[in-house]
Amino acid sequence: MEPRYVQVNARDNVAIIVNPEGLAAGVAFPSGLALREAVPQAHKVSLRDLEAGECIVRYGEVIGRANRAIPAGFWVREDMLDLPAAPPLDELPLATNVPAPQPALHGYTFDGYCNDDGSVGTKNLLGIATTVQCVAPTVEYAVRRIQAELLPRYPNVDGVVAITHTYGCGVAIDAPGAAVPVQTLRHISLHANLAGLPLVVSLGCEKMQPARLFSSDLPVLGDGPAVIRMQDEELRGFGNIIGAIMRAAEQRLEELNRRRRQTVPASELVVGLQCGGSDAFSGVTCNPAVGYAADLLVRAGATVMFSEVTEVRDAVHLLTPRCATEEVGRALVREMRWYDEYLGRGHADRSANPTPGNKRGGLANVVEKALGSVAKAGSSALAAVASHGEKVMAKGLVFAATPAGDFVCGTQQLASMNMHVFTTGEGSPYGLAMVPVVKVSSRTSLAERWYDLIDVDAGRIATGEATIQDVGRELFQFLLDAASGRRKTWTDHWGLHNALAPFNPGPVT
Ligand code: CA
Repeated sequence: MEPRYVQVNARDNVAIIVNPEGLAAGVAFPSGLALREAVPQAHKVSLRDLEAGECIVRYGEVIGRANRAIPAGFWVREDMLDLPAAPPLDELPLATNVPAPQPALHGYTFDGYCNDDGSVGTKNLLGIATTVQCVAPTVEYAVRRIQAELLPRYPNVDGVVAITHTYGCGVAIDAPGAAVPVQTLRHISLHANLAGLPLVVSLGCEKMQPARLFSSDLPVLGDGPAVIRMQDEELRGFGNIIGAIMRAAEQRLEELNRRRRQTVPASELVVGLQCGGSDAFSGVTCNPAVGYAADLLVRAGATVMFSEVTEVRDAVHLLTPRCATEEVGRALVREMRWYDEYLGRGHADRSANPTPGNKRGGLANVVEKALGSVAKAGSSALAAVASHGEKVMAKGLVFAATPAGDFVCGTQQLASMNMHVFTTGEGSPYGLAMVPVVKVSSRTSLAERWYDLIDVDAGRIATGEATIQDVGRELFQFLLDAASGRRKTWTDHWGLHNALAPFNPGPVT
């Protein structure tokens, strides 16, 4: 492979090295630039002489200021950049450059499970919701028995899922922050892929009582609430408790087994986008390809959610002009401000975000990470903003506020989504039991090394073998196939399903 770098924007004064082994000192590029020292793959090279104090520009945006002179052809390491201030939230242009809708896409469909509430599932699962962590091992025991003894008799049911978590007691349940985990768990418990009706296992003495979890009428199975309370007087012994769960499970499995997939428009997809283990390629390969797929989904009438406040914060000035209305813009600013204050209470700021892996992957700081991250949002107008724990009901491109940590973000997105796209540069085996998780790699070297974990390789964009549009269309089709059960993601193939981790900004007692 000939020496190759990627310069994203004509204004950029740095570029990243494409060659998998990196490049040695003395190597010259077709542009005439020669390396003055070795630079690893994905790391930045200075395209011209940079003065001390000069802005370092990537994606056409300032990612930092050089804290020393950096001659052309040098490796621009993270410690050579000073982190710029985040865009001030009071001065952002709102809805000033709203993209016109792109032509609608008609005729794209998938085969899903239609629910009474109008939602569409991509899996047909028996879900067992829990109100408190205390009951989790009991429910997991019951799930093993259900899988072994009952599920083989119900071939149209895709599986049984225990919705276990660490919330439910020992928390200030009336504090304002408590609404976030309670709402998140409510929406997950009533998820489209559970046909909107879970069994519920409660302990009895916990703070998050079933009535609080559901905030309205309890889910009903047959002629009574679908709730098994372990401390109920009539349940004598563990065998009796498991027996009660098994009987309720069998009743629900009878119902679920009668369901069949139906062809529905692609507009019924609710796709959550996330990145984890990002690197400097993420913003030029997988995230733009996901952004192209996001545009196709929006054109097909679907919902596309992107999240991760700390990875949007430094690029928010690129998003507020794209908000469909000033009101949406103010909601986006509100979510940024909420998180600034949340981090401030912990004496942290957004610079706490990048991981050692991000930095090994060439990302100098959170600004560079954010500019690459928002490429996932494509080029559509931002139609709506949802707060932490809120279920996304709008169609089109939506920002749903969540933390950036993969399993916390994924848990919160799960409240709304029926498909998940996860981009990664360094590699992550992350998966969720309740929805298909489609993995997209930023580099071909990762897709080759993890050939049985990565579903779509976007690294071909950096080497010129494929375009952003090629990979975006491939991902769009993959989503329709996986949503229909025609194609299995690798995480579902291996059963790699992370524990749920609801975000709890409230106090623990
Ligand atoms: Ca993440």
